[in-house]
Amino acid sequence: MGIACVNVDLDSIGHYLRIHGLSEELLSPEAARVVYRKALARFVGLFADAGIAATFFAVGRDLSDRPSAEALRAAAHAGHEIGNHSFSHDYDLTRRSAEGIVREVTEGERAIVRAVGTPPRGFRAPGYTVSGELLQVLWVRNYLYDSSVFPAAPYYLAKAAIMGAMALAGRPSKAVLDRPRVMLAPRLPYRPDPRDPYKAGQGARLELPISVEPVTRVPFIGTAAVLLPWPVVSGLYRRLRGEPFLNFELHGIDLLDASDVAVPQLARVQRELNQPYERKRERLRELLRRIVDDFEVLTLADAALKLGSVVE
Ligand SMILES: [Zn+2]
Repeated sequence: MGIACVNVDLDSIGHYLRIHGLSEELLSPEAARVVYRKALARFVGLFADAGIAATFFAVGRDLSDRPSAEALRAAAHAGHEIGNHSFSHDYDLTRRSAEGIVREVTEGERAIVRAVGTPPRGFRAPGYTVSGELLQVLWVRNYLYDSSVFPAAPYYLAKAAIMGAMALAGRPSKAVLDRPRVMLAPRLPYRPDPRDPYKAGQGARLELPISVEPVTRVPFIGTAAVLLPWPVVSGLYRRLRGEPFLNFELHGIDLLDASDVAVPQLARVQRELNQPYERKRERLRELLRRIVDDFEVLTLADAALKLGSVVE
């Protein structure tokens, strides 16, 4: 039986506005915090029903809001792992100076320790972009794993096309386009080459890539699961169920809808907001039921410990 990991990036709604080149001023104070104050508890409930322990990736800066930090603590107490998704979710993280990278990692850690009492053991980079330098910072700080590599061809090509179109329209995106090499990165856990983390090499620590369909490299993530027609989602899952490792990545926004985030300009481009929350929850519930049947479900940290002796 393979290992499956289920994880949620707790990106606040403001980051989506930035990706789409929209002003964060469109957000009410409630909507700015709704991922932590509302979606997080919804996910904790969903995972309790499925009987699984998951991983939540928190952005340090968001934890200065007390109710947000308390919601994260409640998730940790429910048995979930809390991973580091950097301090400020800067899409330019890997282009920062060495000190800038260290600061983003360590301040993210500190905010998590303040909120939940224990340091994170895993990292997910904002915008899925890593570099040898960033991984080196993690390994020096004793992280067990990184889980940022997203070797999805359609995702990369679509992102390149959208960013190009937005630049032409005079509304440039704040997202950062990764090197095309990421499309060829391994799909299954590997030891990243320090000079090129999208290539397998030798090292003590693991990269746990986000799952894509084995042949077409269509992403199997929450956005796809809630937006694509159900037969497609179900078909994608069938292609993955026999794999030794499944890393199902979700976002806080996957359990929110337009009644939680009343920003029509955003709903036009972030289409998962137009699906009612209850419908999305039912889909995810069904997928989790299948995942629990087909895999041993572990947090990413436990998967890294278990795979550490297996992956060459
Ligand atoms: Zn993110």
